[in-house]
Amino acid sequence: MKKLLATLAVAASFTLAAHSAGAQTYPERTITVVVPFAAGGPTDTVTRLVAEAMSKDLGQQIVVENVGGAGGTLGAGRVASADPDGYTLLLHHIGMSTSATLYRKLAYDTLNSFEYVGLVTEVPMTIVARKDFEPADLKGLIEYAKENKDAVTVANAGIGAASHLCGMLFMSAIDTPLVTVPYKGTGPAMTDLLGGQVDIMCDQTTNTTKQILGGTIKGYAVTTPKRLDVLPDLPTTEEGGLPGMQVSVWHGLYAPKGTPAEVSERLSKSLQVALKDPNVVARFAELGTTPSPEADATPAALKAKLESEIARWKPIIEAAGQYAD
Ligand code: ASP
Repeated sequence: MKKLLATLAVAASFTLAAHSAGAQTYPERTITVVVPFAAGGPTDTVTRLVAEAMSKDLGQQIVVENVGGAGGTLGAGRVASADPDGYTLLLHHIGMSTSATLYRKLAYDTLNSFEYVGLVTEVPMTIVARKDFEPADLKGLIEYAKENKDAVTVANAGIGAASHLCGMLFMSAIDTPLVTVPYKGTGPAMTDLLGGQVDIMCDQTTNTTKQILGGTIKGYAVTTPKRLDVLPDLPTTEEGGLPGMQVSVWHGLYAPKGTPAEVSERLSKSLQVALKDPNVVARFAELGTTPSPEADATPAALKAKLESEIARWKPIIEAAGQYAD
């Protein structure tokens, strides 16, 4: 018995030593960041910019893997069950908090299946339409939608996505249900909006700014209290007649539960460096957003945000009584 205990103690100390040595030399190989939406969309864009800057800081390649579907819950599930070694991460947005209530069943426990790295950015949303969509402004869109509710199609990235949430807020604000069309991300939804296959969408500026400025889609409003520097001609929802409709999309970086604290801390430090990278700052500004301040790019800040956002959306979703199975 004594011998067995001694053997176990030696084995345990080896494991511990290997564990902390790994954390100290991390990262030693390529890191994968899962984006839970299709390529080419706003979460993908933000992730690729940040991953490039973090990769420089960490001295290892970071590859982005798009695992779209079910409003971001498939990608989150993939990371929840990945090895907790710091080599598979998740960059998700506000949908992490809304899905916790919207989905009756998830393959993970939102608050207990992840370690936190930090907040990345908070992105305004815009209400947009295909270029030749009839209504000229938000007031016109509201009237048109009420009169043609069975014909107006609204693209989103599935239940739990930010575009789904924003679309629901719009429909509830105008008290009119419209026809929703789900995609694996708003990257492919934008392709269909540009092609005229779908009418309207509510999506992050990180996907819509370039298209609005280029006149390839129509912009109706931005969902922030103030107009954006990058889109000065775009009225706010309040100016356009929907004062209560304000929403922005916070993004966070996560690792699977059990990832060593030293690794999460290292990633957090790297995220802080990335968010000050001149290319990230400049590209974010062009896309109508700003990097999270250093104090928010921390595990504690992301954990607090996720907890408070789950608590904020739960009663709203429960009152709406619409769930995904
Ligand atoms: N913007 C999308 C959303 O609706 C997701 C994406 O494709 O990045 O949440």
